[in-house]
Amino acid sequence: MKVPANNLLRHYTEHQDEYEVKALEILRSGNYVLGNEVETFENNFAKYIGTNYCVGLGNGLDALWLSFRILGVGPGDEVIVQGNTYIASVMGITINGATPVFVEPDEFYSIDADKIEEKITAKTKAVLVVHLYGECCEMDKIVALTKKHRLYLVEDCAQSHGATFKGQTTGSFGDIGCFSFYPSKNLGGFGDGGAITTNSEELNKAFRMYRFYGSEKRYYNKVVGTNSRLDELQAGLLNVKLNYLEALNEDRRRVCNSYLEHIKNPVIQLPKRRKDSETVWHQFVITTPYRDEFKAYLEEQGIGSIIHYPIPPHLSEAYAYLKIGTGSLPITEKLANEVLSLPLFYGMTKAEMDTVIQAINAFVPKTLEK
Ligand SMILES: *Cc1c(COP(=O)(O)O)cnc(C)c1O
Repeated sequence: MKVPANNLLRHYTEHQDEYEVKALEILRSGNYVLGNEVETFENNFAKYIGTNYCVGLGNGLDALWLSFRILGVGPGDEVIVQGNTYIASVMGITINGATPVFVEPDEFYSIDADKIEEKITAKTKAVLVVHLYGECCEMDKIVALTKKHRLYLVEDCAQSHGATFKGQTTGSFGDIGCFSFYPSKNLGGFGDGGAITTNSEELNKAFRMYRFYGSEKRYYNKVVGTNSRLDELQAGLLNVKLNYLEALNEDRRRVCNSYLEHIKNPVIQLPKRRKDSETVWHQFVITTPYRDEFKAYLEEQGIGSIIHYPIPPHLSEAYAYLKIGTGSLPITEKLANEVLSLPLFYGMTKAEMDTVIQAINAFVPKTLEK
């Protein structure tokens, strides 16, 4: 039996009529950018996250770089971020000319909250936390720290739609929460999309201006902004999907709990869960020193898997100019060599889960074969 790493059609086909009726309704409305659907989505999503405001944007990267642009973080400023993240988190910082300062992750793949303070300098302006793989960062410590040092706190929630820390939803802790609705995210659209959440009226206004060429009133441009708007079609389809987000996340829990219970192999380390948080399992990430061999082994049996991510941002060609060499972030670099995301998607059948579990339990690295 083949098991793909992801399959977005399981959810779609279950609710196909509802999505298609909505899509047709929007196509036939004659209104395609910044209309009722976007406004409705912004209201619904702000309510779901628990913030006063949400602003729909073109994608997650725009949410990130616009955040730092609007907060006035630029050349000469430093932003603290975890080393093991998707490169978009870092680009959100560097597009503005600011410098990323990397911190190693803790055992939950999140920024190590106890290693942040030692990286704060006179140039530090903000901390960017990434709730990677759907697991929350240690937000009580991080909120206290950013308050103490008067730093901005921005949350990269591209992988954490609905995740909570001590009952509070990610995207509501900091000055700004940044979301992506790229199709494979927990709340994924049918193309690109993004948003920010905030409690600040001033920031809400600024994002609305920046996403529309820097104008509050059309053709009266106050700042050099950009064009980054969530479109009506995406917003309408996201309005449908938002109603299913809790069910989608619950189904990921079903699969992951089964993995946690049944995968037993001494060379495969299962992900750990933070006690105070409710993860939304964007990915189920194992680690093994035999990662490449293990991935090939799964592939031979028709089981898909993905490496999130093979090259940490500080070692990517794009950031050679930062001159942060190999060996400077040993935990991050080790993870890049050892992580692997197992198949995980809504509607995975028991047979598919069992296929994955049995294959993993039978894996013996060649060097350990008798
Ligand atoms: C997907 C992702 C982004 C970027 O979102 P896009 O909508 O693809 O631009 C940023 N950060 C993280 C952690 C992501 O997973």
